[in-house]
Amino acid sequence: MGKVTGFMEFERVEEGYKPVAQRLKHYQEFVIGLDNAQANKQAARCMDCGTPFCNNGCPVNNIIPDFNDLVYRGQWKAALETLHSTNNFPEFTGRICPAPCEAACTLNVNDDAVGIKSIEHAIIDRGWAEGWVLPQLPAQKTGKKVAVIGSGPAGMAAAQQLARVGHDVTLFEKNDRIGGLLRYGIPDFKMEKSHIDRRAEQMQKEGVTIRTGVLVGDWPQDSKVTNWSKQTINAAQLQQDFDAVLLCAGSEQSRDLGVPGRDLAGVHFAMEFLPQQNKVNAGDKVKGQIRADGKHVIVIGGGDTGSDCVGTSNRHGAASVTQFEVMPQPPVEENRPMTWPYWPLKLRTSSSHDEGCTREFAISTKEFLGEKGKLTGLKTVKVEWKDGKMVEVAGSEQVFKADLVLLAMGFVHPVAPVLDAFGVDKDSRGNAKAGTELVGGYATNVPKVFAAGDVRRGQSLVVWAIREGRQAARAVDVFLMGASTLPR
Ligand SMILES: Cc1cc2nc3c(=O)[nH]c(=O)nc-3n(C[C@H](O)[C@H](O)[C@H](O)COP(=O)(O)OP(=O)(O)OC[C@H]3O[C@@H](n4cnc5c(N)ncnc54)[C@H](O)[C@@H]3O)c2cc1C
Ligand code: SF4
Repeated sequence: MGKVTGFMEFERVEEGYKPVAQRLKHYQEFVIGLDNAQANKQAARCMDCGTPFCNNGCPVNNIIPDFNDLVYRGQWKAALETLHSTNNFPEFTGRICPAPCEAACTLNVNDDAVGIKSIEHAIIDRGWAEGWVLPQLPAQKTGKKVAVIGSGPAGMAAAQQLARVGHDVTLFEKNDRIGGLLRYGIPDFKMEKSHIDRRAEQMQKEGVTIRTGVLVGDWPQDSKVTNWSKQTINAAQLQQDFDAVLLCAGSEQSRDLGVPGRDLAGVHFAMEFLPQQNKVNAGDKVKGQIRADGKHVIVIGGGDTGSDCVGTSNRHGAASVTQFEVMPQPPVEENRPMTWPYWPLKLRTSSSHDEGCTREFAISTKEFLGEKGKLTGLKTVKVEWKDGKMVEVAGSEQVFKADLVLLAMGFVHPVAPVLDAFGVDKDSRGNAKAGTELVGGYATNVPKVFAAGDVRRGQSLVVWAIREGRQAARAVDVFLMGASTLPR
């Protein structure tokens, strides 16, 4: 344990943000991480409690009390090794994880949780700055070939783990750059893409072959997800050429809102809007980019994706940004005795909300309104929830002015028919059917074909994708070698 009385002496300190007026002018990250001295004090707040619930609250089971102790003692390199032992990409999670670990922290019962995420962020950023993050080459090659399809956090973690135990891994990606939704979803101001490029370089040095612009299977004509692939590859060919195939193709099919006026110009999926800005930031030209400049923007959907649309619209210079959420406004403070150590229901205000946004709760859209085929507004009604059912409030109809509507209501299932291409069975939600059990987990019904990440569990979190990628890598290794030294 670090400092025995640390949690009584030191208050939680949050990471800083650059001023709103300044950060709205660009798309770069604006979080100011803890410096070494701050991280040292924050780590000293960890009580090293007998049962570290944080470790269980974290989907990759980061060994949080240990790295806190090491940071408190100034042993940063050892802290980095501890962190990397459970998490391939702490620079991703240290920036964009919602930190369920902190909800589970024992200090959170009656005080402010340890700032675990900010300490993780400080450790990995120092690791890169000091040159401690190096390729880890396998002791020997196995001669086995593995195809990983999809290069989001699940595919990246799996490919890295499999290469480190000596398999020849090829990572196939339909987009022009790797990273999945980290690259073409999550805005640069939340996570700059150089973090992905740096890891890609490390993975290539470890032996991973990266093939971008290659779609596995056929593209559905009706898909609204942009297809940047230049080449297709047949599933049967992959099964023939590789000893195992791991599907990490994500869950990109956006949930639609089938109300009158959906076809009006100006109504778009969030995932038509967000990737375009990330491409522009990367220096690409996007013809007819969907822009929010001077427009009244309404974002439908109160989650992370919606919040990212708010931040991007404000950076475009929108005239107004309003976000709709169909659920009622949650309480500002959670009921800790009722919810700890689980993820609590409470009002979450993101940095994008702080940059300017009106939030409407318990509201449902009835119709998009337009003139000459162009969106001009939308008609809404207030709703209540009775016995788990949504009921409209009589007389609460309202019209909002809108020039741009962004639909951010979640994702339903994988977009490309990658599962059909391999003949993989689907669960009731249309995701790949595969369990997570210790023996036989992540295997689909098709021999030597495995599935992990959002393609299996549905749209989730980066940290869950990393966990599944790591666990599936182990399952593939056991399948190929009969045993595995990879951690589960
Ligand atoms: C806008 C937005 C914001 C988000 N914000 C956060 C956040 O702040 N924090 C957080 O933890 N999570 C966030 N998430 C969720 C998180 O990004 C995902 O849960 C995570 O990326 C899933 O990882 P994955 O590897 O399973 O799939 P993905 O990241 O979706 O990657 C799948 C990859 O497979 C590729 N692919 C699909 N089909 C094929 C094919 N047939 N052939 C070749 N390649 C294929 C896709 O192009 C894609 O690159 C956000 C999601 C979105 C959309
Ligand atoms: S990955 Fe997320 S849940 Fe795990 S320690 Fe880091 S911030 Fe917490």
